[in-house]
Formats: sequence, C-alpha cells, structure tokens
Amino acid sequence: MEISTPEPRVEVNFVTSAPGYWSDVTSEQWSDWKWQLKNRVTTLEGLEKRLQLTPQERAGVILSGSKLSLAVTPHYFNLIERDNPNCPIRRQIIPHVGEGTVSPVEMADPCGEDAHMPVPGLVHRYPDRVLFLITDRCASYCRYCTRSRMVSGAGEQELHTDFDEAIGYLKKHTEVRDVLLSGGDPLLFSDEKLDALLTRLREIPHLEFLRIGTRVPIFLPQRITPELCRILQKHHPLWMSIHTNHPRELTIEVRDALALLADHGVPLGNQSVLLAGVNDSLPVMKSLIHKLLRCRVRPYYLYQCDLIQGSSHLRTSVHKGIEIIEGLRGHTTGYAIPQFVIDAPGGGGKVPVNPSYVFFHDSEKVVFRNFEGKVFEYPEVQEEGTPSWAVPIHEEAFTS
Ligand SMILES: *Cc1c(COP(=O)(O)O)cnc(C)c1O
Ligand code: SF4
Repeated sequence: MEISTPEPRVEVNFVTSAPGYWSDVTSEQWSDWKWQLKNRVTTLEGLEKRLQLTPQERAGVILSGSKLSLAVTPHYFNLIERDNPNCPIRRQIIPHVGEGTVSPVEMADPCGEDAHMPVPGLVHRYPDRVLFLITDRCASYCRYCTRSRMVSGAGEQELHTDFDEAIGYLKKHTEVRDVLLSGGDPLLFSDEKLDALLTRLREIPHLEFLRIGTRVPIFLPQRITPELCRILQKHHPLWMSIHTNHPRELTIEVRDALALLADHGVPLGNQSVLLAGVNDSLPVMKSLIHKLLRCRVRPYYLYQCDLIQGSSHLRTSVHKGIEIIEGLRGHTTGYAIPQFVIDAPGGGGKVPVNPSYVFFHDSEKVVFRNFEGKVFEYPEVQEEGTPSWAVPIHEEAFTS
C-alpha cells in the first residue's frame, strides 16, 4: 500500500505568560482574576510605557475611544512581541488606524442580529436555538469584534438586555431547546450572578442544552477557578465554546484552565476567526488545532471575518480559508478540523464553505476526489424521490 510522505511537524510548546512586564507583583496578585481586570492596559500611556507603537497604532488608539475601547489583560499583554509590529497577538488587540477606514460593503451589524431580536438581548434566528447576549463587557477587546457596535460601551449602540422579558420569551417558546450565552463575555459575571441565571434557565423544562461562548479562558484564565467550575457542573449538560486564533494564545495558564473545565465535564469547542497576518497560514492553523486537541478542545468553527466596519486590514479572502481546510482534510486528525463558515452578510446565519470534492452527481453516480486528488466513483442508490438534477463536471478540477 502506498502511504503519502509525512509532512513537516509543526512545533507546539506551552509557555507561561508570567510575569513579563509585571515582575513586581506577587504570584497571588497575578493569579487573581480581579487583579488582572483592574490592571488591564487601557490607555495610550499604558501601551507606550511597554511598547514602541507604530504611527498607525498610535492613531488607532486615539480613534478607539469613540468606537471600541482598548483593553488588554496583563496575562494577554505579555504574549505581545515587543519589537514586532506584525506580531499576531498584537494585530488582534492593539487598535490600528485601519479601523477608521469603512468600506461600502462593511456594516455596523454585519450578521443582521438587531433585526432578529424579539426581546432586547435575545437573538432568535434559527428555529430551535437562541443567542442570549447577557453582557456588553469583555476581559479584553478584539479589534475585529463582530459586535463592536455594542461591546465595551464606547460605540454607537448600547446593549440593554431585559432578563425578565427574555426568560418569559424562552418559557413561552417551547421550540427552543438550546440557549447560547454570549455577549460580551458571560464569564465576567460574578459566580453568584451566573449561577442564578443558569438556575433560572434550568428551570425551563424544554431547554435541553446550554452553552457559553467565551474568550475568558484565553484573555483571563485566572477566572477559571474551582468554584466557577463547580457552578458550571451543577447545570449540565453545559458546553463551552472558547475563542482562540493563534497557537501562542494557548499558554500553560490557559492549558490548565481548560483542563479544569474538562475535568468538570464541560465539553469544549473552539471558534477561530480567519485573520490576515494572524492565522491565515496552514502551519499556524495546524499548530493551533493540534494544541487545542491536546487541551481537550474540539475545533468547531473557523469564521470568515465578518464585514464589520473598519476590518479590511484584518480580512482575508474566502479562497484562503478554503485552501487552509483543503490542507487539513485528510492531512491531519479529523477531530482537529473546524468547519469553515461565512456568517451570511445581512443575517442568513452560518453557511459552511468547503473545498469542493464532488465533481459530478446525478441519479446514477457521484464522482469525487480525495485529499490527494485521486478520483473515485460511488454508484448512487436508487430510491424514491432521487432528484434528477446533476452537479456539472468541473473540467478544470479533472485536469489539475
Ligand atoms: C452562531 C449562532 C447560533 C449557534 O449556531 P450553531 O451553528 O448551532 O453553533 C445561534 N444563534 C445565532 C444568532 C448565532 O449567530
Ligand atoms: S471576546 Fe468576543 S465579544 Fe468580546 S471583543 Fe472579543 S470577539 Fe467581541
């Protein structure tokens, strides 16, 4: 049997983020999430004390006050390469003057969420599940945030979640079986407040499945305490989607936080956003997803960057994303491969985008290729209602 040649191994190491610029603080302070939040870098002075900003970044910081606030936890700040303006961590978190350039295709609400809000804070787009925006605050702010119109408090819109009305809506809508808590970041709630909300949701019998979308394990791993995990454990089945984009974000602290969550039975998935100069390369993406598997996190979605206002310097082509998936499928563990999706502009929901493997499909047969480009055929099963349409042959695919 022919076995394809092994591909170069991508190095994956877990390193600590401490103490970096904060060598004068005690380890008790460092591992206290409230200390981390209180000591976030939020000002131009705070940045310039530690980094040499480019003129584009400097202008971006000044601009951020009226769009999306600047905030970086000390933990995450330490991951920035001091002398590299192209550092993939830096590009995600330090404002850039490009945020002020709005192209005609960009929108304040690119996924059309506001139009699908029956109750303030509750987005009901899909038949059986809802997105519940419970806070507008995050531990740090991602410059490409799809909800930058409403997170951080600096932008044009405010989030006014009506908790009683939202719970009332969920009680009435028995078709909803899945509630996704997001924001902002739900894990910035205090233990008591989060426990109370999860308890109220758990009292609704038709809600089978709860999940939390959070970037806290990455920005603020200190927040993942045994007490928090015990609370989450009470409300099972409760799943969690974390958000990482680059392998360097998976530090020793993050790995330990994820282990604690997994040990408390929280199934973990990851969502990444495809970002120019951050993770738009196959080796980087491979390293990220391999590290995630080692942390017991299943890569879930890879998002084409939404058409958020001022994001053109961070967006890549859809082609690039397809090329990355093509480079993963068959080449590495299937569990490691996220689904590449575009959240349809204007509000169509998430649509999978894949490399095309099928050349031809009619009522007789399917013709397709594998990851090595070899062509195969499967005879179509004849059954009632088989459509008579055919997927045409892509000539160029056959000849390549
Ligand atoms: C992403 C999203 C969901 C969850 O979608 P899944 O594909 O089930 O993860 C639900 N509601 C809204 C509005 C969303 O954007
Ligand atoms: S953590 Fe999520 S909600 Fe918060 S700024 Fe980043 S992408 Fe936006």
